[in-house]
Amino acid sequence: MVKRRETDWSHRLPEEVVCLRCLRPTPAADLDRLLWCPECVESARSRATRIGWWSGGGLAVLLALYIWFGIQPDPGHIPQLWAATLAVAFYLGGRIARELSFGIMRLRNRPAVEATPSGVTPGSSSPTEE
Ligand SMILES: [Zn+2]
Repeated sequence: MVKRRETDWSHRLPEEVVCLRCLRPTPAADLDRLLWCPECVESARSRATRIGWWSGGGLAVLLALYIWFGIQPDPGHIPQLWAATLAVAFYLGGRIARELSFGIMRLRNRPAVEATPSGVTPGSSSPTEE
């Protein structure tokens, strides 16, 4: 009996499986639980990272405006603390937004969002089966 690192589920799949996201045939062992190939996981992750940084930046700007106009701190009064507050808002906001957007992409799991149309309209015929 061959020991495999993956758990039971991948045994039930055929050798090559079409990635749900880009529709490229991929060895079943490379796919994850949602049937995404590593490239799709990577691209979703980098997109989520980009969204995260923008969200964190936006949050930090909003917080800076609020501190500047709302709280109106004495400029000579420990500005490092305010800077640290903004840095934390940027970092944490970015992290949270990244995890959220990645989680939403995973949850939605819309098929073929990364697929490049190549004359085949999805649904009209299945290219994998004859
Ligand atoms: Zn893929």
